[in-house]
Amino acid sequence: MNTIAIVGRPNVGKSTLFNRLVGRRQAIMDNQSGVTRDRHYGYGDWTGHNFTVIDTGGYVHNSDDIFEGEINKQVKLAIEEADVVLFMVDAEAGLHGLDEEFAHILRRYIGKKPIYLVANKADTNLRAHGSGEFYALGLGETEVFAISSANGSGTGELLDAIVSNFEEAGEEEPNSELPRIAIIGRPNVGKSSFVNLLLGEDRSIVTDVAGTTRDSIEAKYSAFGHEFMLVDTAGLRRKARVNEDIEFYSNMRSLRAMEAADVCVVLLDASRGIEAQDVAIIALADKNRKGIVILVNKWDLIEGKETNTARDFEAKIKEKIAPIAYPPVVFISVLNKQRVHKALEVIMEVYSNKRRKIPTSQLNDVMLKEIEKYPPPIQKGKMVRIKYATQLPTHNPVFAFFCNLPQYIPDSYARYLENRMREHFDFTGVPIGLAFRKK
Ligand code: GDP
Ligand code: GDP
Repeated sequence: MNTIAIVGRPNVGKSTLFNRLVGRRQAIMDNQSGVTRDRHYGYGDWTGHNFTVIDTGGYVHNSDDIFEGEINKQVKLAIEEADVVLFMVDAEAGLHGLDEEFAHILRRYIGKKPIYLVANKADTNLRAHGSGEFYALGLGETEVFAISSANGSGTGELLDAIVSNFEEAGEEEPNSELPRIAIIGRPNVGKSSFVNLLLGEDRSIVTDVAGTTRDSIEAKYSAFGHEFMLVDTAGLRRKARVNEDIEFYSNMRSLRAMEAADVCVVLLDASRGIEAQDVAIIALADKNRKGIVILVNKWDLIEGKETNTARDFEAKIKEKIAPIAYPPVVFISVLNKQRVHKALEVIMEVYSNKRRKIPTSQLNDVMLKEIEKYPPPIQKGKMVRIKYATQLPTHNPVFAFFCNLPQYIPDSYARYLENRMREHFDFTGVPIGLAFRKK
């Protein structure tokens, strides 16, 4: 999906425009300028074109000394992620020193991506006429759009111009076949360190960030010969700054990222073990039929490791997440660069397990024998006969077992079947569904 970044000094009205573009979806509006906020993402559409909007408000503080560092890091990231950049200035206040600094940064993107100079707060025609002074910012051919984010005037023309840069509406999502991976875990477990090590400092971004239909962000990456989408990379790149909100914030993000992912990678801190929140998110991932991989990071912190240490650690995790038994557990140390590549391999395996299709003949060959060996128990004097099984054409592995009395299959027997399925076919890391149908 196409991404629009709104950049500009504080208080020019970036959040106001953001809110208008993303419709009813709201950003944390904060009229107090200079208050730190996270980068905001939202989704909007115009004449059939869907887009993601990044509001960079909150990157730039009023204090001049932090300005340089901030703009170089955060605003540049946003600009790089964007397909179209809106550089917003304040028509009411006129040219401002900080506008020049933004213009300086933006100049190097001229010709590389479309930049629109947006003179906001042009609520009246009078001001709209005055917006010509911004041509002095030296952004080449860049057109000045006089708008009012507050009352909406001029925003339609601006959007028409923006979407003219986009590909045709309704184009196929080119990356829909790639594994979508969410890296989740409590603050400080090493999520960012893991991703940084995996992707290297330059992060080998193959395409720009694209929005999904949900409130999450994903980008295509490649590492060790694998291509994949990381969901919510923004959350990894950048830490929430408001300390008291960290826990809450990371949970909200985790949930959204989890929903959008095929495989959820849950990072744990070896020195802390698995905690209630981790168990909760794993249970939720299971319920949503996501692939799950558990990475125990900071394995270097465990002293006096013996042969059984990892095994016992894994047993404890499995005890806590029971009855969910299928997620693989990999012990890694990002610090010592241990098994990070292995972790990626396991993640990729889980993804391919999730897409595994068992041919009906093979499934029946194997499972009818198991059923014969240990048939469903007699219930209320009735014999339950399973005649055949087939995998349903769903995104996640679900198997239908056709039988005379589906209502008489006890849960314990369903578990028996699931365990036999897992013995014969590799569904490591993947929840499988069993459906009993009448035949
Ligand atoms: P940001 O810091 O760039 O995100 O700016 P905000 O969106 O928080 O807006 C800063 C102030 O400008 C707020 O008080 C807004 O209500 C006001 N504002 C935003 N857009 C307009 C506009 O089009 N016209 C007028 N008059 N005020 C606006
Ligand atoms: P995030 O909040 O989950 O993204 O965690 P970070 O990646 O920011 O890491 C939190 C802290 O843990 C940082 O100080 C890292 O240097 C440290 N850390 C990350 N991985 C390891 C590891 O494998 N071993 C040790 N000892 N520390 C680590």
